[in-house]
Amino acid sequence: MSARETCDVVVIGAGAAGMMCAAEAGRRGRRVLLIEHHPVLGEKIRISGGGRCNFTNVNAGPANYLSQNPDFCRSALSRYTPRDFIAQVERHGIRHHEKKLGQLFCDGSAREIVAMLRTECDRAGVGWRMPCAVDAVARAGGVWRVSTPQGAVDAGSLVIATGGLTVPKIGATPFGYRIAEQFGLAVVPPRPALVPLTFHPDALGRYGDLAGVSIDAEVSCGGGRFRENLLFTHRGLSGPAILQISSYWNGRDALTIDLLPGFDAAQWLVQAGHSAALLPNVLGERLPSRFAQQWCAAHDAVTPMRRLPELRLRELAAALHAWNVVPSGTLGYNKAEVTRGGVDTRGLSSKTMAAAAVPGLFFIGEVVDVTGWLGGYNFQWAWSSGHAAGQFA
Ligand SMILES: Cc1cc2nc3c(=O)[nH]c(=O)nc-3n(C[C@H](O)[C@H](O)[C@H](O)COP(=O)(O)OP(=O)(O)OC[C@H]3O[C@@H](n4cnc5c(N)ncnc54)[C@H](O)[C@@H]3O)c2cc1C
Repeated sequence: MSARETCDVVVIGAGAAGMMCAAEAGRRGRRVLLIEHHPVLGEKIRISGGGRCNFTNVNAGPANYLSQNPDFCRSALSRYTPRDFIAQVERHGIRHHEKKLGQLFCDGSAREIVAMLRTECDRAGVGWRMPCAVDAVARAGGVWRVSTPQGAVDAGSLVIATGGLTVPKIGATPFGYRIAEQFGLAVVPPRPALVPLTFHPDALGRYGDLAGVSIDAEVSCGGGRFRENLLFTHRGLSGPAILQISSYWNGRDALTIDLLPGFDAAQWLVQAGHSAALLPNVLGERLPSRFAQQWCAAHDAVTPMRRLPELRLRELAAALHAWNVVPSGTLGYNKAEVTRGGVDTRGLSSKTMAAAAVPGLFFIGEVVDVTGWLGGYNFQWAWSSGHAAGQFA
């Protein structure tokens, strides 16, 4: 590419959303340039889903996303659905399977998804600058000028697809938020989501050596409720149930953990109430025994069952169904899967992803304040929002 270049669309960020958008715009005959600063393409896709990329969820719908504006994602998700992406995956001969709960993974490697997106961009005639940093973005006379060390590019449309803040070592930057602010768009404060949570020192002293123990639990907080595995770690709690609820945690409130979901603990304990067995041994029939020991010690209940009055057994049963844990924090952006918050959707069109007040400026993917649950929902948002912008940029 020459030092001073003109095209129709510049897309900054060649991740999931950026490549999807560039290919779609290119197919419409638009001259598209993709700018990516990281030297390796699609790193976040490559490491996703344990290397197999959970690329969509067949059940994806607006209820699976968090946003200050929960209806924003509805239009894009309905116009480019999981079926549409699966059809593309199948056209490229990528074998896949459903693991659980509608989550689709590659049979082979996430690299196949990166290669598919690259091929779609190439077929659509997309141009590349990679690796290439962006020095500045300006708008004059209805034209966007993107300045880079490899020269400036002028374009009628500018698409920001630079993602969130997670895993900075593979390219994450706050670039997209800065551009939003530069052009007067509001940004919902970003914070780590789908992230392990940490214990306060007292809980760490009690439960920290349970690292590796997992429990099928129902965890609720801030309007979210998930039944999946909860995993003890050296620092606190993780596992799918905790990652999911972390997106709903406000940094202060307690999580409520039902350790025996769908089971009547009161009836069970009262029936066993005449036994000489210690409560932790009884609980060990349904919960990991090391956890049962620690939990009973914390509740001052390492006691033979027959010494516990029925009222106390009922209290303990209630506590098993509602174990309250206040995390001390999260493991932060290095361990989070996504960033919650981002460019405020109230300034964007849900049909085109364009900024209402800034002609020709689009935001797609994770940089936008739309955050999916764990399980393929975040990639589906990247595909759907990228496709939406690709039809209008
Ligand atoms: C470990 C891990 C596993 C995950 N697994 C899954 C999963 O299995 N399923 C799922 O749905 N989601 C998963 N996610 C989330 C998913 O990867 C993201 O939501 C998705 O990649 C967001 O797509 P995006 O295109 O918006 O951003 P990204 O894919 O992050 O792409 C943004 C791109 O912009 C580039 N960029 C940033 N700043 C600049 C700049 N200043 N100039 C130029 N380029 C820039 C970055 O280098 C990057 O290439 C996972 C995330 C992580 C961290």
